[in-house]
Amino acid sequence: MIKLGVIGYPLAHSLSPAMHNAALNFKNIEGIYTVLETPEDKLADTIEHMKIQNFRGFNVTIPYKVDIIKFLDEIDELAKITGAVNAVVISADGKLKGYNTDISGFINAIPQDKLDNLSGKKAAVLGTGGAARAVCSALLNAGINNLVLYARTPGKAEDLKEILFFNFADASISISQLEENLDLSDISILVNTTPVGMYGKSEGQSPVSEQSIDTLPDNAIVYDIIYRPKITKLLEYAQNRNLFTIDGTEMLVLQGAKALEYWIGQESPVDIMREALNSCFV
Ligand code: NAP
Repeated sequence: MIKLGVIGYPLAHSLSPAMHNAALNFKNIEGIYTVLETPEDKLADTIEHMKIQNFRGFNVTIPYKVDIIKFLDEIDELAKITGAVNAVVISADGKLKGYNTDISGFINAIPQDKLDNLSGKKAAVLGTGGAARAVCSALLNAGINNLVLYARTPGKAEDLKEILFFNFADASISISQLEENLDLSDISILVNTTPVGMYGKSEGQSPVSEQSIDTLPDNAIVYDIIYRPKITKLLEYAQNRNLFTIDGTEMLVLQGAKALEYWIGQESPVDIMREALNSCFV
């Protein structure tokens, strides 16, 4: 029996169980993926619980993608570069190894021809939290050589800038204040990694104004990693202009599929996982 789960807080509406349980079922693997909603003072206890209960691994989500690192015995090279972990494998002897599958999930959701065009271009990333670490590393790794980090608290973005500089010394990386109205006229890809626009209290809001989106070049990509709702206000603005848009659902599927491969040591049924996720939206 393979036990898997996700830790984070709050976690009431996680879509990961639907995706992973459908995949386990399809592969005839006896196992279960559960939600372990974990307040901050219970993080250590929950990790210990999973070790004692012989969990095979778990996902890590808001707000623990950075904090989890201090509990790990080993960290994958890519996760180390980003300083954030979203998937952990527990070995038979209780050792924890951390991975970051958001990086490949994010980049592989961009169609190859669009990705090829991004080499040498400029990107703008809104937000500088856990997911932004994966997004920025993935963009720089894919050949973006000019990156603007838009932060509501620029001081908090310095750490991220430093990590990225250390690993991508040839790229130009700057921090700017995230404001409603931005001049994005030289941006080839705009990525939202803030939760603004997500279901709940900020649904229907956008981190930047429609006027900001109107400043983007006609061939720009607008990528919102929020997956609920699928079409956020930001994407709606971009679609009003016929810009190429990507929502967060494919990233969610692909990061999950990669994590499952680490846990079960077999190829993941990506189509089944995508279908299970999509059925959550109907
Ligand atoms: P996080 O670590 O809490 O970071 C959120 C970032 O957004 C921080 O930089 C924060 O700024 C900023 N922010 C929060 N509220 C804001 C507001 N009202 N206005 C402007 N900036 C704001 O969260 P995360 O783990 O990076 O996740 C962020 C989003 O990405 C969530 O919606 C999550 O669901 C989504 N996500 C999607 C996938 C996927 O597979 N599609 C994967 C990972 C995450 P401060 O530093 O100033 O607080």
